[in-house]
Amino acid sequence: MRGVVLHAPGDVRVEERDDPVIVAPTDAVIRLSATCVCGSDLWPYRGVEEVDGPSPMGHEYVGVVAEVGGEVRDVRPGQFVVGSFFASDNTCELCRAGYQSSCVHRVPIGGIGAQAEYLRVPLADGTLVATPGTPPDDLVPSLLAASDVLGTGWFAAVAAEVGPGKTVAVVGDGAVGLLGVLAARQLGAARIIAMSRHESRQALALEYGATDIVTERGDEGVARVKDLTDGLGAHSVIEAVGTQESMMQAIRSTRPGGHVGYVGVTHDVALPGMDLFFSHVHLHGGPAPVRRFLPELVDLICDRRIDPGKVFDLTLPLDRAPEGYEAMDERRAIKTLLTV
Ligand SMILES: [Zn+2]
Repeated sequence: MRGVVLHAPGDVRVEERDDPVIVAPTDAVIRLSATCVCGSDLWPYRGVEEVDGPSPMGHEYVGVVAEVGGEVRDVRPGQFVVGSFFASDNTCELCRAGYQSSCVHRVPIGGIGAQAEYLRVPLADGTLVATPGTPPDDLVPSLLAASDVLGTGWFAAVAAEVGPGKTVAVVGDGAVGLLGVLAARQLGAARIIAMSRHESRQALALEYGATDIVTERGDEGVARVKDLTDGLGAHSVIEAVGTQESMMQAIRSTRPGGHVGYVGVTHDVALPGMDLFFSHVHLHGGPAPVRRFLPELVDLICDRRIDPGKVFDLTLPLDRAPEGYEAMDERRAIKTLLTV
């Protein structure tokens, strides 16, 4: 089969990989319908994360089940399924508490490589959620978004305790930040401040329910959020970048007693103890337990109540994946969908 492999920073190729087979009796193999490039794929692509030899890429996927192992009970060949970036049993104590991305048996899909024609999914019964019937083609991008960026933005909003009547600020205008705006709207936020300097992203944020746009960042961005909230800061702040600046911007934009939901994969972030001590904010985040939210998100999408697929502003065939990486790296595209 064809699959995307990163050889060195900036050197991503589509090449022949071995066809996946059932390894454990709890595995499924799916024929991908679509996959995509994640903002977090850019960290190794840019050399910020070390590239340790040729690495298969990708952890976002939707597709049709081709084959299941002997112990798979709920997932059946022919079903259209959505999964997320950690396979999980969905039965251990941590899964049952809603933290499937910390499952005691978790397996990172990124290490298997979902930017490919076929994917082996471990722990299929716990990981995959089937759609009601085969979805029409126009719903595929939104279902693919549920695999990571929507689930992650949704978790950020839940971790930030977004709810009716609250003011929410969103740091980061990538796909996760934009879908954090969508989630905040769905969860009943009264006011949603999107922090973005890019016109096309501002437009999508407004479409997804943002009420205010702040173009400043760092200290000036914090000051603007304070201006908009009677000097207090937002109740709930979504952090969807992962840098020192964005984390501090999120913490300092939050009012005392408020909550930060952080889902940007952190790189070299060090939180100053005294700032944290006097901030009086709650911090919660990490790799999103997307599986917790998937059944609800799949329903919202299939009922056409949300349209998260709009974050894909570039669609390419799998064989042109390198162009998709390049476009996202240069911020010409928010997110690249790869058709298989
Ligand atoms: Zn588990």
